[in-house]
Amino acid sequence: MRVGIGYDIHRLVDGRKLFLGGVEIPYVKGLLGHSDGDVVMHALADAMLGALALGDIGLHFPDTDPQYKDISSGELVKKVLTLVKKRNLVVNNADTMILAEEPKIHPFRDKMVETLSKVLNVAKDRVNIKATTVEGVGSIGKGEAIAAYAVVTLGREEVDI
Ligand code: MG
Repeated sequence: MRVGIGYDIHRLVDGRKLFLGGVEIPYVKGLLGHSDGDVVMHALADAMLGALALGDIGLHFPDTDPQYKDISSGELVKKVLTLVKKRNLVVNNADTMILAEEPKIHPFRDKMVETLSKVLNVAKDRVNIKATTVEGVGSIGKGEAIAAYAVVTLGREEVDI
């Protein structure tokens, strides 16, 4: 079993669509980024690369590379999944935590779990989305940014635990 951790934070700005966990969420702002700015997908990709001991997404998908401009971040996770498969490994489970003052995440939770289970090619009961506000503290609390953490375990095969 291998374990990896990922973290990401992006600035909330006007004039962008908000994508979290591969789901478009109606909101007045969106996350700034070279890609679609989906911090959940970025944290997941980093967690998978961490479990593989293969660096981070900045190394694999530089934000100076035009081919990743406005890319759906689920595509980045799928590219990392090919590296997982290359090692004869599979995703065992993924747990994520979204830190956002607004909007409410819970109405979109099931859709995110469904999307992530498809992207990661695992059953829905192996993917979790958690969300919390930060009680108005700091840049996230002021609604200037959204962050996400992810932990992923990889195994030789899907183990029944
Ligand atoms: Mg990012």
